[in-house]
Amino acid sequence: MKSFMPNQPWPPVPEFASGGWQATPEPAEGVITWNINTTCNYRCGYCTQRFLDNRTRWAQDTAAFLQAFARLPGKWEIKLSGGEPFLHPTLLEIVSGLARMGHFVSVVTNFSASEERLLDFLQAASRQLRVFSASLHLEYIDTEAKLEQFMAKGLFVQNQLPPGGSFNVTCVATQTVLPQLAGLQQRFAEAGLRLKVQPEKQGRDVISYTAEEATQLTMLGGHNGLGTISHHFANRPCWAGAKSFTLDDLGNAWRCYPARRYRAQYLGNFLTDSFQLAQGPSPCLYQYCNCTVPIERNMMPRHRAED
Ligand code: SF4
Ligand code: SF4
Repeated sequence: MKSFMPNQPWPPVPEFASGGWQATPEPAEGVITWNINTTCNYRCGYCTQRFLDNRTRWAQDTAAFLQAFARLPGKWEIKLSGGEPFLHPTLLEIVSGLARMGHFVSVVTNFSASEERLLDFLQAASRQLRVFSASLHLEYIDTEAKLEQFMAKGLFVQNQLPPGGSFNVTCVATQTVLPQLAGLQQRFAEAGLRLKVQPEKQGRDVISYTAEEATQLTMLGGHNGLGTISHHFANRPCWAGAKSFTLDDLGNAWRCYPARRYRAQYLGNFLTDSFQLAQGPSPCLYQYCNCTVPIERNMMPRHRAED
């Protein structure tokens, strides 16, 4: 099968539509957020996937996925997500295959895996590991002993990271949990661990926090430490689709999470010739962007040049 070539460009960003926003420089590397399964051993009350019809799916054809990753132009960062990726039966095979190709590997996990399995993962990713993100789900980490154990595991992973790798913890700021988060953030910081907060979402949007809660959340760093609770980039030029995309366990690829939710800007099936990357940046079509990965990698202008 031939390598993936960029598709025809999406329409260029018209000046009147973009509001004069200039595209950011082309990112040196691409990044994929891959939900490799819907399976999870937790059932968090705020899980955005809890209404999925089938929570037992997992990417089955490891060889076909690895062949598809090998066809990507250049080196990409593959962020493994789920469900819970550590429940995937061939996780280690996937990770070592990606690392051998020279791609980079990141992961987001509920951190329920044993230290032994975490270590196997770290060894499989070797020097290609980029970001290890452990989610703190307080519905499950609900005693002091479990919290101590979670933090000890965090330090264990952080101490094994290769050069260039980073570790962080995230926690969903439900209205119940929010009052505890400043204390927790400080406690993690004192232990040498970074705790970032994420606003709770229901359906497609962030829940309605009171003004006081919104202030607390912003003081905790906003969404994933990005300074704001919710981001709005509609009409601004964005590289998502060309230098980043989301992938599901069946190989379906969309420009980004909002595109997937609205079943828009489908890039095709990654495992077949139907998959094509966009050629460059194009206007964002969505009112609300919750795409931490493209935001952190400056895929769209967040501020005007003169700001
Ligand atoms: S651990 Fe993550 S995927 Fe699993 S139920 Fe909780 S929020 Fe959902
Ligand atoms: S929602 Fe975010 S990632 Fe998606 S196109 Fe808009 S700015 Fe880009």
